[in-house]
Amino acid sequence: MPQNKRILVTGGSGFLGSHLCERLLEAGHDVLCVDNYFTGRKENIRHLLDHHRFEVLRHDVTFPLYVEVDEIYNLACPASPIHYQHDPVQTTKTSVHGAINMLGLAKRIKAKIMQASTSEVYGDPSIHPQVESYWGNVNPIGPRACYDEGKRCAETLFFDYHRQHRLRIKVARIFNTYGPRMAINDGRVVSNFIVQALKNEDITVYGEGNQTRSFCYVDDLVEGFIRLMDTPDEFTGPMNLGNPGEFTILQLAQTVIRMTGSRSGIVHRPLPQDDPLQRQPDITLAKSVIGWEPTVKLDEGLVKTIAFFRAELDL
Ligand code: NAD
Ligand code: UDP
Repeated sequence: MPQNKRILVTGGSGFLGSHLCERLLEAGHDVLCVDNYFTGRKENIRHLLDHHRFEVLRHDVTFPLYVEVDEIYNLACPASPIHYQHDPVQTTKTSVHGAINMLGLAKRIKAKIMQASTSEVYGDPSIHPQVESYWGNVNPIGPRACYDEGKRCAETLFFDYHRQHRLRIKVARIFNTYGPRMAINDGRVVSNFIVQALKNEDITVYGEGNQTRSFCYVDDLVEGFIRLMDTPDEFTGPMNLGNPGEFTILQLAQTVIRMTGSRSGIVHRPLPQDDPLQRQPDITLAKSVIGWEPTVKLDEGLVKTIAFFRAELDL
């Protein structure tokens, strides 16, 4: 019987956070969900509210938090480019002040803490696929920098708290993840394309659509989070978590049109500044340390995600 733990999930009412809260409750833990609802929605966690081991707190992680828990998953941060660029100063504050506050909390209560970092720490990568030892190619003053550099600084803080205060840390570098409960207005590619296809509106491909991404289904990712948190204390990461299946954005558009039976056409829009050309995780480390690799293929994950958006749009 696994031991019951008290677990804090910051950003718990967001897309990934809500799935994580659900999985932790199913595993028998007490879950405290903390969120300021910047991009998260109460709807994402409504089905958990009656659970006797689930608690919710409206709180902004840029301010200190005083609670008692055994483990912390730090997910609080807008993840979609349109959302994180809406208030870039707040985005950096959320990553950096949020990390300082959550690390300070972990230090005081001797909790183990995991950071939801990102493949964006590699920027527009010059090596492919990306391995954890690659230091990245990030523009520090561009429109994506508030997110990329905020997350890089958060990693720095995690490793300094580990070296300086012996904190038990885990750093997950998440690659593009999709699934049910992404927000309709999220602006990320999978949700945009599915919503456009279901409404028979033009699919907006930025640039020629030759840029690539590797898409991981949310259930696979959450499994990776939990396994990473359970690694021995000596293991800190960073660890890539993502699906190595790599697709061009044009291929994704065509797949979504086919799977939804949509009448949508494809239109091209300008490529946003600093949009990475290619991205694919090398998951050798995850395979060897936590025996993890994704099990859900893109088509299977898209079926579930399309069903979710169909219901959301009442179609
Ligand atoms: P999301 O926007 O759905 O969730 C983020 C959550 O954090 C939201 O509920 C939001 O309200 C909350 N939040 C934002 N600022 C906050 C603050 N100051 N205080 C408290 N809560 C705050 O995005 P997501 O896809 O679920 O991403 C979750 C985490 O995973 C983020 O840290 C993101 O950077 C990281 N990540 C996600 C992906 C992905 O593809 N989904 C990829 C890389 C990294
Ligand atoms: N993209 C696109 N059309 C859209 C939304 C995004 O062509 O409607 C492209 C975007 O330019 C990028 C890729 O899809 O190359 C992934 O974008 P997303 O915002 O999902 O995440 P990113 O990996 O860029 O952070």
